[in-house]
Amino acid sequence: MANDTTRLLGLDGLAVVGVADDTDGPVVHLVTADERARHCPDCGTRARRSKGRRVTRPRDLSVGGRRPRLVWAKRRWRCDELACRRRSFTESVPPVPPRKRLTTRLRAAAGAAVADQGRTVVQAARDYALSWSVVAAAFTSHARAVLPAQPEPVQALGIDEIRRGRPRWIPDEATGIWQTAVDRWHVGFVDLSGKQGLLGQVEGRTAQAVIDWLADRDQAWRDAVQYVAIDMCTIFKSAIRRVLPQATLVVDHFHLVQLANQTLTEVRRRVTVTHRGRRGRKSNREWELRNRLTRSAARMRGEHVDALLDELSNLPRAIGAPITAAWNAKEDLLDLLATARTRPDREQVRDLLYRFYRRCADADPPELQRLATTVETWWPEILAFLHTGITNAGSEGTNRVIKTIARDAYGFRKPGNQRLRTRCATTRRARGHLDAR
Ligand SMILES: [Zn+2]
Repeated sequence: MANDTTRLLGLDGLAVVGVADDTDGPVVHLVTADERARHCPDCGTRARRSKGRRVTRPRDLSVGGRRPRLVWAKRRWRCDELACRRRSFTESVPPVPPRKRLTTRLRAAAGAAVADQGRTVVQAARDYALSWSVVAAAFTSHARAVLPAQPEPVQALGIDEIRRGRPRWIPDEATGIWQTAVDRWHVGFVDLSGKQGLLGQVEGRTAQAVIDWLADRDQAWRDAVQYVAIDMCTIFKSAIRRVLPQATLVVDHFHLVQLANQTLTEVRRRVTVTHRGRRGRKSNREWELRNRLTRSAARMRGEHVDALLDELSNLPRAIGAPITAAWNAKEDLLDLLATARTRPDREQVRDLLYRFYRRCADADPPELQRLATTVETWWPEILAFLHTGITNAGSEGTNRVIKTIARDAYGFRKPGNQRLRTRCATTRRARGHLDAR
């Protein structure tokens, strides 16, 4: 009977001698059942003289929904080896290391719950009846063990920035203007060609931060990078030019679409304020159409696109015309970007680009001139996107996971903890934790 219970409990080197029922759950009495525990940890000599017993109560996982309280009567032994400096020692077995009050499997389960099962430290601490700091430490050691120290080579690297927490503002007392006091960023490196997910994060949105992370990789790793996808950020561009001179820079279409939509929104807001003397609100048709305007026409049904254009032409001309121009420019840009999927030839790309530039040049809104200039500045990188189709969409997905984790945790005080949590969550697929068994 006791043997069966020992097998059921499954703590190597510990034998159950009895189970008592208590109001709080079962109390399991254990003794050491490992001959090796009797050998001195320093010299390895088998001890002969006992110094008596000492009772410890290591905490363990629950069994069948109940948390058994373990009571382990372990022996203290005297080391008789004359050359050994250790006079005495207490038994220990691998499932309960010396001076530890938790079984290794409880600690591992708490760490894995945070690293791989999407629990926050607070939630896992509650689940396993442990303190926050114990779970946080268990998570850190679990994460360090499972995360690869160095990423595998990648062909296409994505670099993207994400805000860390909320920006804080303080008023400048002299001028009365609000200024950012705290605006913290993380720059993430993502494997876009393979399955490694988020390779790492660094703090700060500077070229040096990017250069330093890349400098930590070896030369062979850096040489293997053929493409780098970035948003239209000159800081990253200059950093990559310096550290990965052989890599082709690719601008992500996601950010271009975002920019075109932003431009359209700016035009709409400006004409509303100029011609109505206030911000847009319900009963202003252009305000009511705002979401339909930024939707891609390719994803709308034909009659809905026609209806949208009709609505725009029914608006007062001073409002409708600039918005229509901005909408057309946005759609021209989208058409151009959509060719990435069809292996476009040079003429096709040239014609679509020309149409977009002409549209911007012919239109009044200054916002469109600015959009055209940005496209012109980044044209080599946009063309690289049209040819390769490489996109940072993967890292945008990663950013969503990063934000969810930060929200679940109600923010992180230490950026190092946040990076570790983020890396665990975004590499789960690569580490085989999301695949159905
Ligand atoms: Zn010894």
